[in-house]
Amino acid sequence: MTLATISDERAPARRFPEATVLLERVTADALAQRPLADADALRLLNPAELPLLALLQAAFVVRERHYGRRVRIHVLNNVQNGNCPEDCSYCAQAKNSQAPIEKYRLKDDEQILAEAGRAHAAGAYRYCVVLSGRGPSVRRVEWLAQLVRRIKTTYPPLEVCISAGLLDEAGARALKDAGLDRYNHNLNTSAERYAQICTTHGYGDRVATLQAARGAGIDVCSGLIIGMGEQPAEVVELAQTLRRLGARSIPINFYVHVPGAALGPVDQLTPEYGLRVLCLFRLANPDAEIRAAGGREVNLRALEALALYPANSVFAEGYLNTPGHGADRTIRLIHDAGFEVEREGFVADAGPGAGVEARC
Ligand code: SF4
Repeated sequence: MTLATISDERAPARRFPEATVLLERVTADALAQRPLADADALRLLNPAELPLLALLQAAFVVRERHYGRRVRIHVLNNVQNGNCPEDCSYCAQAKNSQAPIEKYRLKDDEQILAEAGRAHAAGAYRYCVVLSGRGPSVRRVEWLAQLVRRIKTTYPPLEVCISAGLLDEAGARALKDAGLDRYNHNLNTSAERYAQICTTHGYGDRVATLQAARGAGIDVCSGLIIGMGEQPAEVVELAQTLRRLGARSIPINFYVHVPGAALGPVDQLTPEYGLRVLCLFRLANPDAEIRAAGGREVNLRALEALALYPANSVFAEGYLNTPGHGADRTIRLIHDAGFEVEREGFVADAGPGAGVEARC
């Protein structure tokens, strides 16, 4: 078979006359830690503006500067599930969800300590405690603070991350005083779309939580879910907002409908678009940990390995209410693509409400 027999000679060759100039500019800006211009950012998401492989190469140059070929693996280990009073429509745990999920109760302190110990012994550098719900009460903040103290004094130098919903300044200060290293709170979707996705709290509440954590001196992890009907300009807005908020870690989830959840199937994502979004976030947030998070297997499909060019972090072993690849397959994917697993570097996410739908 010759090449001519498998190519479509009637298709006009696509030309990208300004691609080289654009890619050189955005790469130079990212390497110099200059903000990405909104107009340039929008063009990265447009297949008519740039060939995908050239964009991946530009993102890889920036990724390699900060992380080499290393890939950080996160493993979710949820211990409670369901019964959330909020109504995030994508979430299987929301009060308006009919999804037949398995429900767990919160583990007690000793169980959580034991899990932190196992993660520490296995080489984890950070342990994440994840709680579903609107946000912690004063009593729950006190409980979390003593838990953080116990984990950090029992298993140094293990870092601790908490994902517990909306947090005020006093709560953030209390957790910082206890030694908390990082707080996760995802923006999930854009300011203008937020009310369509959730009515029990607002986008502004989420931004205020991130500001409270940053103000207390806690590192911030915050990401989004693409594929819930948002426009490319909204994704650009999120990338720029997370840069301004100083997010050190940005999980990018790819929407997967969980049967029974309030938000139905949305046929929006293609593997190419998912990769373009990862590249956009790398170029807008050059030294942040960019994670190809929940739903990558379903939405990136045969192009999954290409996610490692912009992203330096992935989940393995699946998510709370949706399956994913096991660790062995994920590690093989990383090695086959010419990347390496970051040694002594996996992150154990343990606690109630962990997962693509519910990393509140
Ligand atoms: S995302 Fe979090 S706050 Fe929203 S419904 Fe799910 S568990 Fe509750």
